[in-house]
Amino acid sequence: MQTNMLINGELVAGDGAVLPVIDPATGEAVARVAEASSEQLEAAVRSSAEAFEHFASTTPAERAALLLQIADVLEAHQDELAELESLDVGKPWPSARDDEMPLTIDVFRFFAGAARTLSGSAAGEYVEGHTSMIRRDPVGPVAAIAPWNYPLMMASWKLAAPIAAGCSVVLKPSEITPLSTLRAAELLNDILPKGVLNVIHGRGPTLGDQLINAPQMEAISVTGSPATGMAAMRAASNQIRHVHLELGGKAPVIVFDDADIDAVAETIRYGSFFNAGQDCAQPCRVLVQDGAYDRLVAAVEAQVKDIRIGAQKAEGTEMGPLVSAAQRDRVAGFVDRARASCEIVTGGATGDGPGFFYQPTVLANVDNATEIATDEVFGPVVSLSRFSDAEEALTVANAGPYGLASSVWTANVGRAMQVTSRLRYGFTWVNTHGVATPEMPWAAMKGSGTGCDMSVYALDAYTAIRHVMVAHG
Ligand code: NAD
Repeated sequence: MQTNMLINGELVAGDGAVLPVIDPATGEAVARVAEASSEQLEAAVRSSAEAFEHFASTTPAERAALLLQIADVLEAHQDELAELESLDVGKPWPSARDDEMPLTIDVFRFFAGAARTLSGSAAGEYVEGHTSMIRRDPVGPVAAIAPWNYPLMMASWKLAAPIAAGCSVVLKPSEITPLSTLRAAELLNDILPKGVLNVIHGRGPTLGDQLINAPQMEAISVTGSPATGMAAMRAASNQIRHVHLELGGKAPVIVFDDADIDAVAETIRYGSFFNAGQDCAQPCRVLVQDGAYDRLVAAVEAQVKDIRIGAQKAEGTEMGPLVSAAQRDRVAGFVDRARASCEIVTGGATGDGPGFFYQPTVLANVDNATEIATDEVFGPVVSLSRFSDAEEALTVANAGPYGLASSVWTANVGRAMQVTSRLRYGFTWVNTHGVATPEMPWAAMKGSGTGCDMSVYALDAYTAIRHVMVAHG
Protein backbone atom coordinates (compact mmCIF):
# COMPACT_ATOMS: atom_id res chain seq x y z
CA MET A 1 0.00 0.00 0.00
CA GLN A 2 1.35 3.45 -0.93
CA THR A 3 1.70 5.42 2.32
CA ASN A 4 4.31 7.99 1.28
CA MET A 5 3.67 11.68 0.81
CA LEU A 6 4.58 13.60 -2.34
CA ILE A 7 7.10 16.37 -1.74
CA ASN A 8 8.92 18.13 -4.58
CA GLY A 9 8.39 15.27 -7.00
CA GLU A 10 9.57 12.57 -4.57
CA LEU A 11 7.51 10.00 -2.67
CA VAL A 12 8.76 10.26 0.89
CA ALA A 13 7.80 8.82 4.28
CA GLY A 14 6.85 11.33 6.94
CA ASP A 15 9.35 12.15 9.68
CA GLY A 16 6.57 12.89 12.17
CA ALA A 17 4.26 10.79 14.35
CA VAL A 18 2.84 7.59 12.86
CA LEU A 19 -0.98 7.62 12.68
CA PRO A 20 -3.06 4.45 12.23
CA VAL A 21 -5.62 4.22 9.43
CA ILE A 22 -8.65 2.32 10.74
CA ASP A 23 -11.13 0.13 8.85
CA PRO A 24 -14.43 1.50 10.21
CA ALA A 25 -16.18 -1.84 9.73
CA THR A 26 -13.82 -3.68 12.10
CA GLY A 27 -12.09 -1.00 14.16
CA GLU A 28 -8.75 -2.58 13.13
CA ALA A 29 -5.76 -0.65 11.75
CA VAL A 30 -5.19 -1.40 8.05
CA ALA A 31 -2.20 0.89 7.57
CA ARG A 32 0.09 3.25 9.43
CA VAL A 33 1.05 6.54 7.85
CA ALA A 34 3.66 8.93 9.22
CA GLU A 35 2.83 12.63 9.39
CA ALA A 36 5.03 15.25 7.78
CA SER A 37 7.46 17.01 10.06
CA SER A 38 7.31 20.77 10.14
CA GLU A 39 10.46 20.86 7.95
CA GLN A 40 8.85 18.52 5.39
CA LEU A 41 5.82 20.78 5.23
CA GLU A 42 8.11 23.75 4.65
CA ALA A 43 9.80 21.83 1.84
CA ALA A 44 6.41 21.12 0.24
CA VAL A 45 5.44 24.77 0.43
CA ARG A 46 8.79 25.87 -1.03
CA SER A 47 8.43 23.35 -3.85
CA SER A 48 4.94 24.65 -4.61
CA ALA A 49 6.12 28.26 -4.73
CA GLU A 50 8.99 27.33 -7.09
CA ALA A 51 6.74 25.29 -9.36
CA PHE A 52 4.23 28.13 -9.60
CA GLU A 53 6.84 30.35 -11.23
CA HIS A 54 6.82 28.29 -14.43
CA PHE A 55 3.46 26.48 -14.21
CA ALA A 56 1.62 29.82 -14.17
CA SER A 57 2.87 30.54 -17.68
CA THR A 58 1.94 27.22 -19.27
CA THR A 59 -0.73 27.54 -21.94
CA PRO A 60 -4.32 26.51 -21.25
CA ALA A 61 -3.89 23.78 -23.86
CA GLU A 62 -0.90 22.35 -21.98
CA ARG A 63 -2.81 22.32 -18.71
CA ALA A 64 -5.84 20.78 -20.40
CA ALA A 65 -3.64 17.98 -21.71
CA LEU A 66 -2.34 17.28 -18.20
CA LEU A 67 -5.87 17.23 -16.76
CA LEU A 68 -7.02 14.78 -19.44
CA GLN A 69 -4.07 12.52 -18.66
CA ILE A 70 -4.97 12.66 -14.96
CA ALA A 71 -8.55 11.63 -15.76
CA ASP A 72 -7.26 8.73 -17.86
CA VAL A 73 -4.87 7.44 -15.21
CA LEU A 74 -7.50 7.67 -12.47
CA GLU A 75 -9.92 5.82 -14.74
CA ALA A 76 -7.35 3.11 -15.42
CA HIS A 77 -6.91 2.64 -11.65
CA GLN A 78 -10.49 3.23 -10.55
CA ASP A 79 -11.04 -0.21 -9.03
CA GLU A 80 -7.93 0.08 -6.90
CA LEU A 81 -8.74 3.65 -5.82
CA ALA A 82 -12.34 2.76 -4.98
CA GLU A 83 -11.07 -0.20 -2.97
CA LEU A 84 -8.88 2.09 -0.86
CA GLU A 85 -11.71 4.58 -0.44
CA SER A 86 -14.15 1.91 0.63
CA LEU A 87 -11.69 0.40 3.12
CA ASP A 88 -10.72 3.77 4.58
CA VAL A 89 -14.16 5.42 4.91
CA GLY A 90 -16.32 2.29 5.30
CA LYS A 91 -18.40 2.88 2.15
CA PRO A 92 -20.05 -0.06 0.37
CA TRP A 93 -17.55 -1.09 -2.29
CA PRO A 94 -19.88 -0.87 -5.32
CA SER A 95 -20.89 2.63 -4.28
CA ALA A 96 -17.28 3.84 -3.97
CA ARG A 97 -16.61 2.61 -7.50
CA ASP A 98 -19.87 3.21 -9.36
CA ASP A 99 -21.27 6.31 -7.63
CA GLU A 100 -18.13 8.25 -6.77
CA MET A 101 -15.36 7.42 -9.24
CA PRO A 102 -17.23 8.59 -12.38
CA LEU A 103 -17.70 12.11 -10.99
CA THR A 104 -14.19 12.19 -9.52
CA ILE A 105 -12.78 11.43 -12.97
CA ASP A 106 -15.19 13.61 -14.93
CA VAL A 107 -14.28 16.67 -12.86
CA PHE A 108 -10.77 16.53 -14.36
CA ARG A 109 -12.21 16.17 -17.88
CA PHE A 110 -14.54 19.11 -17.31
CA PHE A 111 -11.72 21.35 -16.05
CA ALA A 112 -9.56 20.33 -19.01
CA GLY A 113 -12.20 22.08 -21.13
CA ALA A 114 -12.77 24.90 -18.65
CA ALA A 115 -9.04 25.72 -18.62
CA ARG A 116 -9.41 26.86 -22.22
CA THR A 117 -12.38 29.13 -21.57
CA LEU A 118 -10.56 31.57 -19.26
CA SER A 119 -10.85 35.04 -20.71
CA GLY A 120 -10.91 38.66 -19.67
CA SER A 121 -14.18 40.46 -20.32
CA ALA A 122 -12.96 43.55 -22.21
CA ALA A 123 -10.19 45.04 -24.28
CA GLY A 124 -10.21 48.41 -25.97
CA GLU A 125 -9.37 52.11 -25.83
CA TYR A 126 -11.06 53.50 -22.72
CA VAL A 127 -8.60 56.42 -22.41
CA GLU A 128 -7.53 58.20 -25.56
CA GLY A 129 -4.13 56.98 -26.74
CA HIS A 130 -4.16 53.90 -24.51
CA THR A 131 -5.27 50.32 -24.98
CA SER A 132 -6.54 48.46 -21.93
CA MET A 133 -7.02 44.75 -21.53
CA ILE A 134 -8.27 42.56 -18.73
CA ARG A 135 -6.28 39.51 -17.82
CA ARG A 136 -7.34 36.64 -15.63
CA ASP A 137 -4.19 35.14 -14.12
CA PRO A 138 -3.52 32.32 -11.65
CA VAL A 139 -3.62 33.62 -8.12
CA GLY A 140 -0.57 31.74 -6.76
CA PRO A 141 0.24 28.56 -4.85
CA VAL A 142 -2.86 27.13 -3.17
CA ALA A 143 -3.11 25.53 0.30
CA ALA A 144 -5.87 22.92 -0.13
CA ILE A 145 -7.47 21.10 2.79
CA ALA A 146 -9.83 18.15 2.20
CA PRO A 147 -12.28 16.25 4.46
CA TRP A 148 -12.80 12.55 5.15
CA ASN A 149 -16.28 11.89 3.78
CA TYR A 150 -15.40 11.69 0.06
CA PRO A 151 -11.60 11.89 0.27
CA LEU A 152 -10.70 11.39 -3.38
CA MET A 153 -13.69 13.22 -4.86
CA MET A 154 -13.04 16.22 -2.63
CA ALA A 155 -9.35 16.06 -3.56
CA SER A 156 -10.38 16.12 -7.23
CA TRP A 157 -12.50 19.25 -6.62
CA LYS A 158 -9.57 20.81 -4.77
CA LEU A 159 -7.07 19.99 -7.55
CA ALA A 160 -8.72 20.19 -10.95
CA ALA A 161 -9.82 23.84 -10.80
CA PRO A 162 -6.53 25.34 -9.54
CA ILE A 163 -4.50 23.25 -12.00
CA ALA A 164 -6.79 24.44 -14.81
CA ALA A 165 -6.15 28.01 -13.65
CA GLY A 166 -2.36 27.54 -13.59
CA CYS A 167 -1.85 27.28 -9.83
CA SER A 168 0.34 24.86 -7.92
CA VAL A 169 -1.25 23.08 -4.94
CA VAL A 170 -0.17 21.69 -1.59
CA LEU A 171 -2.96 19.30 -0.63
CA LYS A 172 -3.61 17.91 2.82
CA PRO A 173 -6.16 15.08 2.92
CA SER A 174 -7.87 14.29 6.20
CA GLU A 175 -5.52 12.52 8.58
CA ILE A 176 -8.07 9.72 9.08
CA THR A 177 -8.60 8.91 5.37
CA PRO A 178 -5.35 9.52 3.45
CA LEU A 179 -5.04 6.26 1.48
CA SER A 180 -6.74 7.01 -1.86
CA THR A 181 -5.19 10.48 -2.05
CA LEU A 182 -1.67 9.16 -1.39
CA ARG A 183 -2.07 6.56 -4.13
CA ALA A 184 -3.48 9.18 -6.50
CA ALA A 185 -0.50 11.42 -5.67
CA GLU A 186 1.83 8.64 -6.80
CA LEU A 187 -0.10 8.31 -10.07
CA LEU A 188 -0.25 12.06 -10.71
CA ASN A 189 3.47 12.44 -10.02
CA ASP A 190 4.13 10.70 -13.32
CA ILE A 191 2.06 13.35 -15.12
CA LEU A 192 2.47 16.74 -13.46
CA PRO A 193 5.68 18.81 -13.52
CA LYS A 194 7.66 18.61 -10.29
CA GLY A 195 6.16 20.65 -7.46
CA VAL A 196 2.82 21.44 -9.14
CA LEU A 197 1.26 18.99 -6.68
CA ASN A 198 2.60 18.31 -3.19
CA VAL A 199 0.61 16.08 -0.84
CA ILE A 200 1.31 16.04 2.87
CA HIS A 201 -0.15 13.91 5.63
CA GLY A 202 -0.94 15.18 9.09
CA ARG A 203 -3.42 16.45 11.61
CA GLY A 204 -5.39 19.66 11.11
CA PRO A 205 -4.57 21.78 14.15
CA THR A 206 -0.80 21.29 13.63
CA LEU A 207 0.18 20.53 10.02
CA GLY A 208 -3.02 21.96 8.52
CA ASP A 209 -2.57 25.12 10.53
CA GLN A 210 1.05 25.46 9.40
CA LEU A 211 -0.02 25.00 5.78
CA ILE A 212 -2.79 27.61 5.74
CA ASN A 213 -0.51 30.10 7.51
CA ALA A 214 2.51 29.54 5.25
CA PRO A 215 3.56 32.91 3.75
CA GLN A 216 4.18 31.41 0.28
CA MET A 217 0.60 30.14 -0.06
CA GLU A 218 -1.42 32.81 -1.87
CA ALA A 219 -4.83 31.16 -1.57
CA ILE A 220 -6.54 28.84 0.90
CA SER A 221 -9.19 26.37 -0.18
CA VAL A 222 -10.98 24.27 2.46
CA THR A 223 -13.69 21.65 2.34
CA GLY A 224 -14.52 20.73 5.89
CA SER A 225 -16.31 21.78 9.03
CA PRO A 226 -17.25 25.37 9.89
CA ALA A 227 -14.57 25.34 12.63
CA THR A 228 -11.87 24.66 10.02
CA GLY A 229 -13.40 27.29 7.75
CA MET A 230 -13.08 29.82 10.57
CA ALA A 231 -9.45 28.81 11.12
CA ALA A 232 -8.85 29.38 7.39
CA MET A 233 -10.50 32.80 7.50
CA ARG A 234 -8.36 33.78 10.47
CA ALA A 235 -5.24 32.61 8.64
CA ALA A 236 -6.34 34.49 5.51
CA SER A 237 -6.96 37.65 7.51
CA ASN A 238 -3.45 37.57 8.94
CA GLN A 239 -1.84 37.72 5.52
CA ILE A 240 -4.67 38.98 3.27
CA ARG A 241 -5.21 35.80 1.27
CA HIS A 242 -7.90 34.62 -1.12
CA VAL A 243 -10.05 32.08 0.72
CA HIS A 244 -12.53 29.59 -0.67
CA LEU A 245 -14.65 27.55 1.74
CA GLU A 246 -17.07 24.65 1.27
CA LEU A 247 -18.33 23.84 4.75
CA GLY A 248 -21.16 22.11 6.51
CA GLY A 249 -24.83 21.94 5.57
CA LYS A 250 -28.27 21.14 6.95
CA ALA A 251 -30.32 20.63 3.83
CA PRO A 252 -34.04 21.32 4.12
CA VAL A 253 -36.34 19.14 2.01
CA ILE A 254 -39.61 21.04 1.58
CA VAL A 255 -42.45 18.68 0.68
CA PHE A 256 -45.83 20.13 -0.34
CA ASP A 257 -49.14 18.21 -0.22
CA ASP A 258 -49.13 17.64 -3.98
CA ALA A 259 -45.62 16.11 -4.11
CA ASP A 260 -44.94 12.58 -5.29
CA ILE A 261 -44.61 11.04 -1.82
CA ASP A 262 -43.14 7.76 -3.00
CA ALA A 263 -40.44 9.62 -4.91
CA VAL A 264 -39.56 11.66 -1.81
CA ALA A 265 -39.35 8.51 0.34
CA GLU A 266 -37.19 6.72 -2.24
CA THR A 267 -34.88 9.72 -2.48
CA ILE A 268 -34.55 9.80 1.30
CA ARG A 269 -33.71 6.11 1.40
CA TYR A 270 -30.97 6.59 -1.13
CA GLY A 271 -29.80 10.15 -0.50
CA SER A 272 -30.03 10.52 3.25
CA PHE A 273 -28.26 7.26 4.00
CA PHE A 274 -25.74 7.38 1.16
CA ASN A 275 -22.25 7.37 2.68
CA ALA A 276 -23.98 6.68 6.02
CA GLY A 277 -25.38 10.21 5.90
CA GLN A 278 -21.91 11.78 6.02
CA ASP A 279 -22.66 14.19 3.22
CA CYS A 280 -22.75 17.98 3.29
CA ALA A 281 -25.83 18.00 1.00
CA GLN A 282 -27.61 15.17 2.84
CA PRO A 283 -31.41 15.59 2.69
CA CYS A 284 -31.73 15.56 6.46
CA ARG A 285 -34.33 18.13 7.53
CA VAL A 286 -37.63 17.14 5.95
CA LEU A 287 -40.34 19.80 6.26
CA VAL A 288 -43.72 18.34 5.27
CA GLN A 289 -47.02 20.11 4.61
CA ASP A 290 -49.80 18.94 6.96
CA GLY A 291 -51.81 17.10 4.30
CA ALA A 292 -48.88 14.86 3.29
CA TYR A 293 -47.24 14.45 6.68
CA ASP A 294 -48.66 11.10 7.84
CA ARG A 295 -48.30 9.54 4.40
CA LEU A 296 -44.67 10.62 4.12
CA VAL A 297 -43.72 9.44 7.62
CA ALA A 298 -45.19 6.01 6.81
CA ALA A 299 -43.47 5.88 3.39
CA VAL A 300 -40.09 6.92 4.82
CA GLU A 301 -40.41 4.38 7.63
CA ALA A 302 -41.14 1.60 5.14
CA GLN A 303 -38.14 2.54 2.99
CA VAL A 304 -35.61 3.11 5.76
CA LYS A 305 -36.45 0.02 7.83
CA ASP A 306 -35.29 -2.09 4.90
CA ILE A 307 -31.82 -0.54 4.50
CA ARG A 308 -29.19 -3.21 4.91
CA ILE A 309 -26.17 -2.22 6.91
CA GLY A 310 -22.94 -4.14 6.70
CA ALA A 311 -19.26 -4.21 5.89
CA GLN A 312 -17.99 -2.75 2.64
CA LYS A 313 -17.99 -5.97 0.64
CA ALA A 314 -20.77 -7.91 2.39
CA GLU A 315 -23.44 -9.01 -0.11
CA GLY A 316 -26.30 -6.50 -0.35
CA THR A 317 -24.78 -3.80 1.89
CA GLU A 318 -26.52 -0.49 1.28
CA MET A 319 -25.00 1.44 4.15
CA GLY A 320 -21.65 0.97 5.87
CA PRO A 321 -20.38 2.11 9.25
CA LEU A 322 -19.58 5.69 10.21
CA VAL A 323 -16.00 6.74 9.60
CA SER A 324 -14.80 6.59 13.22
CA ALA A 325 -15.86 5.75 16.75
CA ALA A 326 -15.84 9.48 17.52
CA GLN A 327 -18.24 10.22 14.65
CA ARG A 328 -20.56 7.35 15.67
CA ASP A 329 -20.61 8.59 19.27
CA ARG A 330 -21.29 12.14 18.11
CA VAL A 331 -24.29 10.95 16.07
CA ALA A 332 -25.55 8.81 18.98
CA GLY A 333 -25.28 11.85 21.24
CA PHE A 334 -27.48 13.94 18.93
CA VAL A 335 -30.16 11.24 18.82
CA ASP A 336 -30.04 10.61 22.58
CA ARG A 337 -30.50 14.30 23.33
CA ALA A 338 -33.44 14.46 20.88
CA ARG A 339 -35.33 11.41 22.26
CA ALA A 340 -37.41 13.28 24.81
CA SER A 341 -38.72 15.86 22.33
CA CYS A 342 -39.62 13.73 19.28
CA GLU A 343 -40.75 10.32 18.11
CA ILE A 344 -38.20 7.71 16.98
CA VAL A 345 -39.83 6.08 13.97
CA THR A 346 -37.00 3.66 13.27
CA GLY A 347 -33.38 3.19 14.34
CA GLY A 348 -31.88 5.22 17.16
CA ALA A 349 -29.17 2.78 18.31
CA THR A 350 -25.64 1.75 17.52
CA GLY A 351 -25.11 -1.41 15.49
CA ASP A 352 -23.77 -4.71 16.76
CA GLY A 353 -20.15 -5.78 16.56
CA PRO A 354 -16.82 -4.02 16.68
CA GLY A 355 -17.31 -1.60 13.75
CA PHE A 356 -18.65 1.95 14.00
CA PHE A 357 -22.19 1.14 12.87
CA TYR A 358 -25.26 3.22 13.64
CA GLN A 359 -28.77 2.27 12.58
CA PRO A 360 -30.52 4.27 9.86
CA THR A 361 -32.67 6.56 11.98
CA VAL A 362 -35.87 8.51 11.32
CA LEU A 363 -37.19 11.02 13.82
CA ALA A 364 -40.71 12.46 13.49
CA ASN A 365 -42.60 15.36 15.08
CA VAL A 366 -39.33 17.17 15.50
CA ASP A 367 -39.44 20.65 16.99
CA ASN A 368 -37.69 22.96 14.50
CA ALA A 369 -36.04 24.90 17.31
CA THR A 370 -34.22 21.89 18.78
CA GLU A 371 -30.60 20.99 18.15
CA ILE A 372 -31.46 17.94 16.02
CA ALA A 373 -33.28 20.24 13.57
CA THR A 374 -30.72 23.02 13.46
CA ASP A 375 -27.24 21.45 13.80
CA GLU A 376 -25.38 19.31 11.28
CA VAL A 377 -25.44 15.69 12.55
CA PHE A 378 -23.43 14.27 9.62
CA GLY A 379 -24.74 10.75 10.08
CA PRO A 380 -27.62 8.42 9.14
CA VAL A 381 -30.34 10.48 10.79
CA VAL A 382 -33.33 12.20 9.17
CA SER A 383 -35.82 14.43 10.95
CA LEU A 384 -39.38 15.21 9.86
CA SER A 385 -41.54 18.13 10.97
CA ARG A 386 -44.78 19.77 9.78
CA PHE A 387 -45.63 23.09 8.16
CA SER A 388 -48.92 24.55 7.02
CA ASP A 389 -48.03 26.98 4.21
CA ALA A 390 -45.10 28.06 2.02
CA GLU A 391 -44.37 31.10 4.15
CA GLU A 392 -43.88 28.97 7.24
CA ALA A 393 -41.70 26.47 5.36
CA LEU A 394 -39.48 29.28 4.05
CA THR A 395 -39.10 30.83 7.51
CA VAL A 396 -38.01 27.51 9.00
CA ALA A 397 -35.76 26.57 6.06
CA ASN A 398 -33.98 29.92 5.93
CA ALA A 399 -33.37 30.08 9.69
CA GLY A 400 -30.04 28.83 10.99
CA PRO A 401 -26.45 29.25 9.92
CA TYR A 402 -26.21 26.98 6.88
CA GLY A 403 -26.80 27.71 3.20
CA LEU A 404 -25.58 24.82 1.05
CA ALA A 405 -28.12 22.31 -0.37
CA SER A 406 -31.94 22.37 -0.33
CA SER A 407 -34.83 20.82 -2.25
CA VAL A 408 -38.47 21.61 -2.99
CA TRP A 409 -41.02 18.92 -3.85
CA THR A 410 -44.31 19.89 -5.53
CA ALA A 411 -46.23 19.27 -8.75
CA ASN A 412 -46.87 23.01 -9.06
CA VAL A 413 -44.08 24.59 -11.15
CA GLY A 414 -45.03 28.13 -10.21
CA ARG A 415 -44.87 27.35 -6.51
CA ALA A 416 -41.57 25.54 -6.96
CA MET A 417 -40.11 28.66 -8.61
CA GLN A 418 -41.51 31.05 -5.99
CA VAL A 419 -40.11 29.04 -3.11
CA THR A 420 -36.80 28.38 -4.85
CA SER A 421 -36.26 32.08 -5.52
CA ARG A 422 -36.56 32.86 -1.81
CA LEU A 423 -34.42 30.04 -0.43
CA ARG A 424 -31.03 31.26 0.76
CA TYR A 425 -29.07 28.20 -0.31
CA GLY A 426 -26.21 27.77 -2.78
CA PHE A 427 -28.22 25.16 -4.63
CA THR A 428 -31.81 23.94 -4.77
CA TRP A 429 -33.15 20.84 -6.45
CA VAL A 430 -36.80 20.61 -7.49
CA ASN A 431 -38.40 17.16 -7.25
CA THR A 432 -35.02 15.52 -6.76
CA HIS A 433 -32.08 15.86 -4.39
CA GLY A 434 -28.36 15.14 -4.62
CA VAL A 435 -27.72 15.01 -8.38
CA ALA A 436 -24.37 16.64 -9.22
CA THR A 437 -22.56 17.42 -12.48
CA PRO A 438 -19.22 19.19 -13.04
CA GLU A 439 -20.81 21.86 -15.28
CA MET A 440 -22.91 23.16 -12.39
CA PRO A 441 -21.62 24.88 -9.23
CA TRP A 442 -21.58 23.22 -5.82
CA ALA A 443 -22.15 26.59 -4.27
CA ALA A 444 -22.21 27.83 -0.69
CA MET A 445 -24.01 30.73 1.00
CA LYS A 446 -24.15 31.98 4.60
CA GLY A 447 -22.21 29.82 7.08
CA SER A 448 -21.70 27.06 4.51
CA GLY A 449 -18.88 28.95 2.85
CA THR A 450 -17.77 31.25 0.09
CA GLY A 451 -17.71 30.57 -3.64
CA CYS A 452 -18.18 27.15 -5.18
CA ASP A 453 -16.54 23.98 -6.37
CA MET A 454 -17.10 22.63 -9.89
CA SER A 455 -18.34 24.69 -12.88
CA VAL A 456 -16.44 27.55 -14.52
CA TYR A 457 -17.25 29.69 -11.46
CA ALA A 458 -14.86 27.55 -9.38
CA LEU A 459 -12.03 29.18 -11.34
CA ASP A 460 -12.81 32.51 -9.63
CA ALA A 461 -11.17 31.30 -6.41
CA TYR A 462 -7.92 30.53 -8.22
CA THR A 463 -7.63 33.48 -10.58
CA ALA A 464 -7.09 37.21 -10.14
CA ILE A 465 -8.51 39.88 -12.43
CA ARG A 466 -5.79 42.22 -13.68
CA HIS A 467 -5.77 45.37 -15.80
CA VAL A 468 -2.98 46.00 -18.27
CA MET A 469 -2.85 49.42 -20.01
CA VAL A 470 -0.56 50.20 -22.94
CA ALA A 471 0.20 53.78 -23.91
CA HIS A 472 0.36 54.16 -27.70
CA GLY A 473 3.52 56.25 -27.40
P1 NAD B 1 -12.83 18.87 9.49
O1 NAD B 1 -12.99 20.34 9.39
O2 NAD B 1 -12.71 18.26 10.83
O3 NAD B 1 -11.56 18.39 8.68
C1 NAD B 1 -11.40 18.78 7.32
C2 NAD B 1 -9.94 18.98 7.05
O4 NAD B 1 -9.51 20.13 7.78
C3 NAD B 1 -9.04 17.82 7.50
O5 NAD B 1 -8.04 17.64 6.51
C4 NAD B 1 -8.46 18.35 8.79
O6 NAD B 1 -7.21 17.79 9.10
C5 NAD B 1 -8.32 19.83 8.48
N1 NAD B 1 -8.25 20.71 9.64
C6 NAD B 1 -8.87 20.60 10.83
N2 NAD B 1 -8.54 21.64 11.64
C7 NAD B 1 -7.71 22.44 10.93
C8 NAD B 1 -7.03 23.66 11.20
N3 NAD B 1 -7.14 24.29 12.37
N4 NAD B 1 -6.25 24.21 10.24
C9 NAD B 1 -6.14 23.60 9.03
N5 NAD B 1 -6.73 22.43 8.72
C10 NAD B 1 -7.51 21.86 9.65
O7 NAD B 1 -14.04 18.25 8.65
P2 NAD B 1 -14.35 16.72 8.42
O8 NAD B 1 -14.88 16.21 9.72
O9 NAD B 1 -13.20 16.03 7.76
O10 NAD B 1 -15.50 16.79 7.33
C11 NAD B 1 -16.80 16.96 7.67
C12 NAD B 1 -17.24 18.38 7.40
O11 NAD B 1 -16.94 18.73 6.06
C13 NAD B 1 -18.75 18.54 7.55
O12 NAD B 1 -19.05 19.74 8.19
C14 NAD B 1 -19.21 18.57 6.09
O13 NAD B 1 -20.45 19.20 5.90
C15 NAD B 1 -18.09 19.29 5.43
N6 NAD B 1 -18.09 19.03 3.99
C16 NAD B 1 -18.49 20.02 3.16
C17 NAD B 1 -18.53 19.80 1.78
C18 NAD B 1 -18.96 20.89 0.84
O14 NAD B 1 -18.79 20.73 -0.36
N7 NAD B 1 -19.52 21.98 1.32
C19 NAD B 1 -18.15 18.56 1.28
C20 NAD B 1 -17.75 17.57 2.15
C21 NAD B 1 -17.72 17.81 3.52
